Amino acid sequence: MTKIIRNSAICLSCATEIVSLHRHDFQWCPCGSIFVDGGTDYLKRGGDPALFDDTSITDEDAEAGVIERGRILTTQAVLDQLGPQFLRELNGTPDAEIVITDKKEHDR
Ligand SMILES: [Zn+2]
Repeated sequence: MTKIIRNSAICLSCATEIVSLHRHDFQWCPCGSIFVDGGTDYLKRGGDPALFDDTSITDEDAEAGVIERGRILTTQAVLDQLGPQFLRELNGTPDAEIVITDKKEHDR
């Protein structure tokens, strides 16, 4: 069974990332277009699918996140939340370089 590591999405309307941290952590984005819920137990989401950019991570994604030359691809938000050490342990690559794949534009 797939394990949920991070339950999150970015609203394309207000450019805000929302994260559901636990089972009953129901989170709307500030503009009310989308929501996530379920934490690491289940992926529940809703609102306008056209405005929904899923940024959730499962253990399958985490494995797929390791690319050739031992680098780990991730986003700044994930790195902030999980930390580099956890990401390396998760992937079983203690010396891996971590590469940020997003530009964090929504933080400006
Ligand atoms: Zn929004």
